[in-house]
Amino acid sequence: MIANYHTHSRWCRHGVGEFEDYFEKAISLGFQELAMTEHVPHRDRWSWIPWEEFEGFDRALNAAIEKYRDRITLIKGFECEYDPSQMEDYRWLREELGYNFLILGQHGAGKNLEINSFTIHTGKELRIYADWVCQGLETGLFVMLAHPDVALNEYPRPWDKDCEKAFAQIFSTCERLRIPVELNVNGFRQGRGYPSERAMLFSKNYNLKYLINSDAHDPAFLYDEAGRQMEEWAARMGIQAEERFPWGSR
Ligand SMILES: [Zn+2]
Ligand SMILES: [Zn+2]
Repeated sequence: MIANYHTHSRWCRHGVGEFEDYFEKAISLGFQELAMTEHVPHRDRWSWIPWEEFEGFDRALNAAIEKYRDRITLIKGFECEYDPSQMEDYRWLREELGYNFLILGQHGAGKNLEINSFTIHTGKELRIYADWVCQGLETGLFVMLAHPDVALNEYPRPWDKDCEKAFAQIFSTCERLRIPVELNVNGFRQGRGYPSERAMLFSKNYNLKYLINSDAHDPAFLYDEAGRQMEEWAARMGIQAEERFPWGSR
């Protein structure tokens, strides 16, 4: 692994480590690129970083990047929910503050994000999740789809018509918009219901690019045993993940 495009820090409150700790670790691993993608501040829900802390966060990140810029390519981004009420904020972050690398991680779906993507149990919820993911991708604001298969975390049936329909919609949209799909090491590390072998095998019906990302919330996890196992897991399925972000679209 020579790059990672999904990284958190202590700023989201359930992670540990300062930006510098991640940069040092990435350099020691021989990484060429690292994207910091903390959970985006949200006006009313899903707010891991409160807006009141955003200014301090932004200042600290810019200072850390400045300090390390000669040693590694550092990319500013956020992990975002698609939510129409937040799109102006996302655009502002991207266009005014240089957070170019916005990744879509849909942890909630539905008008009020009332469906928790980690606890989807019905085909109907799954299809709503797919709709929200695809509406998000269509905005053109997001450069990568994080853990598409998070929706299968607790899905009670093996692989049914609803799964096929939802993931056909998601993967065909990624294919058409040329948005890379993530293989999420954090789910793997924690023994969650994603990454889903069934979903990823199904994804091979589409012409997709893949990235293996650590989704680290601790510098020690940037490239760990779980990361190596994930590489083998992908290889066994015949999925060739990219070493670096493809298409330079950031
Ligand atoms: Zn986090
Ligand atoms: Zn994440």
